[in-house]
Order: sequence, then C-alpha cells, then structure tokens
Amino acid sequence: MSTKTKYLITGGCGFIGSCLVRKLLDDDNNFIVNIDKISYASNKNSIQGHDNKNYTLIESDINDAGVVEDALKSHSPNYIIHLAAESHVDRSIDSPDNFINSNIIGTYNMLQYSYGYWSSMEGLKKKNFKFIYVSTDEVYGSIVDENCSFDEESPIRPNSPYAASKASSDLLARAWYKTYSFPVIVTNSSNNYGIWQFPEKLIPLVIKKCLKEQKIPIYGNGKQIRDWINVEDNVDGILAVLNNGRLGERYNIGGLNELTNLEIVEVICKFLDEIRPRNIGKYFDLIEFVKDRPAHDFRYSLSINKMIKEINWKPVIPFEDGIKETVKWYLDNENWLFYETQERYDGNRLGQIKK
Ligand code: NAD
Repeated sequence: MSTKTKYLITGGCGFIGSCLVRKLLDDDNNFIVNIDKISYASNKNSIQGHDNKNYTLIESDINDAGVVEDALKSHSPNYIIHLAAESHVDRSIDSPDNFINSNIIGTYNMLQYSYGYWSSMEGLKKKNFKFIYVSTDEVYGSIVDENCSFDEESPIRPNSPYAASKASSDLLARAWYKTYSFPVIVTNSSNNYGIWQFPEKLIPLVIKKCLKEQKIPIYGNGKQIRDWINVEDNVDGILAVLNNGRLGERYNIGGLNELTNLEIVEVICKFLDEIRPRNIGKYFDLIEFVKDRPAHDFRYSLSINKMIKEINWKPVIPFEDGIKETVKWYLDNENWLFYETQERYDGNRLGQIKK
C-alpha cells in the first residue's frame, strides 16, 4: 500500500497551481493528482522536468462530476487544494458566464463531491483531511483609507464579475463548514507575481510590450495600488495554512508590498533599461494611458497579522530580488511570452492589465 501523501489539486497547470505542484513534487513522499481543463492560461510544460511518477494530470473540467468523483474514489487524496478558476478581470467583464460556471458552479461541485468523499472516509485519514479553497483579496473590494488594510473580518464587497464569482465561492466554502462541518479553509491572497504567468496579466504583459517595442497600456492614471506577493511565498502560505490553519477560517496571504501600477511598470522598465537597453530612448517612454476599466478597484491592502500570529508565516522573498528574477525568467523564456501563448491571446482589448 502506498504511504505517500496524496494531494488532489485543481487548476494545477495554471500560474499558481503549477508553482504549488512543482513545490509538492520536490518531496518524493507526495503524490499529486491534478485536475485541469487546460484553458488558454495553462502551461503543462511548467511541470515537466520533475519526476512524474508522483504526478497524474486529469485533463478535464471540474464541472464534469463523473471525473471528479472518479478521481476522488480511485486516488483517495489526503488533502484537496482547489485553485481552478477563470482569473482575469477583463475577461470577466467581457464574458462573465465562464466565471459563473468555473468559479461558482465549479467550486460548488468540488465542495459537494469532496464532502461526499470525506463523509465516506474513516479514522485518522478522515480526521486529518482538509480542503483548501484558494481565493483572492479582490473579494473585499477597494479600500480607500490609506491607514487601513482588510483583515479577515472585513466585509465581502466584490466589484467585478471575477471578484463576485470568487466571493460567492468563499461563502459556499463557509456554508459547507458551518452546515456540514466539512473541513474547509479559505486563503485570500493578494496579487501574485512570478514565472509562468499568462502574458495578459500586468507583469508579463509589460515585459512583452517592452520587448516588442509596443505601447504599454495603463488603465486610468495608473495610480491604483496593489499588494504584490511572490507566487512562491503564496504557495508557502497556502501549505502553511494546510498544515496549521484552523478549520472554517479564512487567512489573508499578502506580500506587505503595496505599489501603484505605474510604480510596478517603472521598476520593470528600469530593470530592462539596465539589462536589455533599447536602441533609442527608455522603455518607460512606451507608456500610454488608456480609458479606465469599469468599476476599477483603487486599492487592495491586506493585513496578514492572523497569518503571522496563528501560523507563524510571513512572506520572505524581497520584491527587489523577486521581480528581477521574474523579469530575467521571461527574457529567458520568450517562447512562453510570445509564441506558445500568442495564438491563445485574445488581444483585441487595449488595456489587458489585471488588477
Ligand atoms: P490561471 O488562470 O493562471 O490558472 C487557472 C487554471 O485553472 C488554468 O490552468 C485553467 O485551465 C484551470 N481551470 C479554470 N477553470 C477550470 C475548470 N472549470 N475545470 C478545470 N480547470 C479549470 O490562474 P492563477 O493565477 O493560477 O490563479 C489560481 C487561483 O488563485 C484562482 O482561483 C485565482 O482566483 C486565485 N488567485 C490568483 C491570484 C493572482 O494574482 N494570480 C491572486 C489571488 C487569488
């Protein structure tokens, strides 16, 4: 009988999910079952190079109940970490239906079938079982008072269809804990940056535009504030919550690193000026301000006191180092930036900048 710890991950071929899968595969005692429908944002290659004997990809939609039930039955996971979701705010404005299906109904399915699976479990395995739902700081909406941050008791006030779909799932997770005592914990993380992100999101998009010498579209005045966390720190936080979090709780996972969109773009441009200078001018000259996104949240800010006090976790990767490593990775992986993703890039909107 296998003594490995089995994780069922959903969305494990996405940006954050693949980082989580890579991290878990570093330990030979882990076995990963990944359910991912392989959307435009997925990157199967990001998991290559690891010892795949501990890894199974089930290429399917989480809304396919038979597949989810089968995966639970045949692999009998110790833990479930649910990340599968549509994740781009602009796309949620253009086509909310995908977000309702994957993010709300998909999460309902995951909760309901996992609850059925957990109910049939016995003994220590049942006692130790946990379901982690990976959510976002966007569920809290925008915070105006610069002296305040959202904590886990802050009201849920989502403003975009994406944020509303995630918030709906936060509430479903809560209800499954309260009503059925299903052992679920929610994490709400801030903006992640790092390798293998689809180049419609701010950081890889800016790098791509710079390298192509194209205009860098900035929504509104670019003064919107986001709290940036390295994806590896987020993954460490998610695993810390899995190991030490209290059931039925939510935990904010933030980077303690608030920057305006314009500041982020400036950092990237300056670093590119150093390592890949343009023939004429500076990369920052490529900036173009475009019409703001509807209901664009002005500021996200997370208090991570609960993570620090209860879980003894805080982010460790300094932004100045992490962003340079990230930029260098995209330069070394232009294939991902330009070719692999180009055909899947629905680039008819000017401002394709997330958050
Ligand atoms: P991503 O878009 O890069 O990846 C999402 C993955 O989920 C993709 O591989 C996609 O194929 C898969 N997926 C989507 N719908 C599916 C479905 N119905 N069935 C099966 N697979 C499906 O997203 P990401 O940035 O890696 O985000 C992962 C999770 O973290 C999401 O739940 C997102 O809401 C949350 N989150 C992201 C951020 C961020 O900054 N990226 C911040 C906070 C929270």
